[in-house]
Amino acid sequence: MVTKQETDSRKLLGRLREVMAEDSGGQTRLDQITQLIADEMHSDVCSIYLFRDEDTLELCATQGLNPEAVHETRMRLGEGLVGSVARKGTIVNTDDAPNTRGFRYMPETGEEAYSSFLGVPVQRLGEMLGVLVVQSKDARTYSEDEVYATEVVAMVLAEMTELGAFVGEGAALSARHQQPVLFQGSTGQEGASRGHVWLHEPRVVVTNPFADDPERELDRLHEAVEELRVGVDKMLSRAKGGDKEHLQVLEAYRMFANSKGWMRRMEEDIARGLSAEAAVEKEQTAASSRMGQVTDAYLRERLHDLDDLSNRLLRILTGQGTETGAEMPADPILVARNIGPAELLDYGRSLKGIVLEEGSVGSHAAIIARALAIPLVIHAKRVTSEALNGDFVLVDGDQGVVHLRPDDTVISAFRDKMAMQAQAQERYASIRDKPAVTLDGSQIELHMNAGLMADLPSLDGSGAEGVGLFRTELQFLVRNKLPKRAELSELYARVMDAAHGKRVVFRTLDIGSDKVLPYMKPNDEPNPAMGWRAIRVGLDKPGVMRMQLQALLRAAQGRPLTVMFPFVAQMEEYAAARREMDKAIERERILGHPLPETLELGAMLETPSLAYAPDKFFEDVGFLSIGGNDLKQFFFAADRENERVRKRYDTLNVSFLSFLERIVERCKATHTPLSFCGEDAGRPVEAACFAAIGLRTMSMRPASVGPVKSILRRTDLSELRGIIHEARARGDQTVRPVVLEYLRGKL
Ligand code: PEP
Ligand code: MG
Repeated sequence: MVTKQETDSRKLLGRLREVMAEDSGGQTRLDQITQLIADEMHSDVCSIYLFRDEDTLELCATQGLNPEAVHETRMRLGEGLVGSVARKGTIVNTDDAPNTRGFRYMPETGEEAYSSFLGVPVQRLGEMLGVLVVQSKDARTYSEDEVYATEVVAMVLAEMTELGAFVGEGAALSARHQQPVLFQGSTGQEGASRGHVWLHEPRVVVTNPFADDPERELDRLHEAVEELRVGVDKMLSRAKGGDKEHLQVLEAYRMFANSKGWMRRMEEDIARGLSAEAAVEKEQTAASSRMGQVTDAYLRERLHDLDDLSNRLLRILTGQGTETGAEMPADPILVARNIGPAELLDYGRSLKGIVLEEGSVGSHAAIIARALAIPLVIHAKRVTSEALNGDFVLVDGDQGVVHLRPDDTVISAFRDKMAMQAQAQERYASIRDKPAVTLDGSQIELHMNAGLMADLPSLDGSGAEGVGLFRTELQFLVRNKLPKRAELSELYARVMDAAHGKRVVFRTLDIGSDKVLPYMKPNDEPNPAMGWRAIRVGLDKPGVMRMQLQALLRAAQGRPLTVMFPFVAQMEEYAAARREMDKAIERERILGHPLPETLELGAMLETPSLAYAPDKFFEDVGFLSIGGNDLKQFFFAADRENERVRKRYDTLNVSFLSFLERIVERCKATHTPLSFCGEDAGRPVEAACFAAIGLRTMSMRPASVGPVKSILRRTDLSELRGIIHEARARGDQTVRPVVLEYLRGKL
């Protein structure tokens, strides 16, 4: 049924469309809109306020207020009734404005003469663009339908503003996406880079907010929603048996896709004169603004889901998929809310930087970004709403800062920073083929960590002597089904080929904890980092481990092979893993396959317990590698993924260093080769200290090899050892200050 209000707002939108269709300049257009709304709503005043900068609103057009005040009257965010609408993102509807809390008298506008006030936020997808105000002399509260009509106009206004329809003096808004914005996020991967924005999922542009034919728009909406539902059902059936959280999200999607309330609201919007896509967007905007007010994490997530679903629906309706026809810039900086590891791998090394609104340091995307050595900033709030495809952007992965559309001073400061990095890189390149020998003549072996085929070229570039840790789980994480033995064997063979005879330490699958395979049944564990992970899974369900060991043996094709087991907490676990290897070798022998020329088997020392294993273990194990990331988290009982507690405990804390020194001594006494392959090995100050307490082999990100080698070559380990011992004797909590003092000038 079409009600009177629906025909009224349709009439209003019809006239608005005529104004939009006219070939008038920005200001004229704004003026026409205010006049039209004042007329249609039988009100004395209609004004449009738009943001001049982040916290200043400017009167950009008015019908009824003093025309001289246009572009003169400004107010700060939160100031007066208009400012309060903008700050809260909620409507103010009062019949007695002068006596309403927050009212501010502005003599230049002659505003005190108006009693009723209706202020509606002009916003798009939670982004506040301005305020649309309607005022009358008589004391009346605007009806629900009048409020609705104003909201619809505000939405069309937002859409037009975004499209830059008001270019000109009144276009505070279209200028908004030209202004510099700084995002303070967190570091995902160090490094600085510059380039142009490439939106992973560019937002859909709704070019026609008006309905020519409501019946047709309704049909379009229904068809699109049907397509959406089918799509969600397909995703659900594909995900069955997979990750529980993923399933939960999809279930929520399905619930929304079938929500009658959502559908009804969109149908009403269409009946009132909006196009199908504008109706979707209106409800999406309403949900986005609720999102800002909801504190409950679960509810926020659900609103997020609705947002995602609306985007999908918009893509169906507008035919603007990921394929928008835009051309990827030559120096793309990927901007996304979040991204999966497989999608990131698709982009590969073509990316110069990555900026995510969400993400976490331990996420798979971060692991890949690190593997590809692409600067990554995470938690850059609102970046996807601020950035436009092609915007110039600077990414400072060291500080976790992003400069979008930076001004010249920032660009030149950044250029200096990049030049310094380039200089340092040159310096590192000049020592690439030189050994990491300290001033007192100790030789340190520097290896690199890897996990993807794409890492291997860094072996030559970085000057690393081998791959000290090859995290095999990355290959499992980036697929959507369990890889086959033949696939793995081929991949490992290619890794060995690319290493050209340099040693590669393959670590068997370390899954569980934060690394959950999408195709494996998830385990609901209260504390997954200390749960069923790595070797524990491998020994309890040996199928995958056997397959992997066989793939490794076959990949070696008679070449030397090195394999290491992760997360060994007690002697027997290593012994059991070794028995698996013995069996695998025996099988290969029976099958007549060539066996590796030599086989080194080792264990990762990632739990304090292993440091106190019987001597027999140290004598039996082929080599040990300290997984400092895990070892430190269990030593201090501080979650490595929890920034708050992780930063609390310094790696150079005397207790931890003494503990590491104890491990070094035990390995020396038992002639057990020892290395360190956690992230700390790649930090020059930490690496120098590790060398000072006796570590002679370290494995790190390829980009760290140069900086670590550089500092080692300028360090006298006996002096540094003396400094560490003095600090310990003095009772210092951490040796960092004195070590920094010593190394100053050497960095
Ligand atoms: C470690 O724990 O230090 C380690 C190298 O393993 P991962 O970071 O893969 O857990
Ligand atoms: Mg570990």
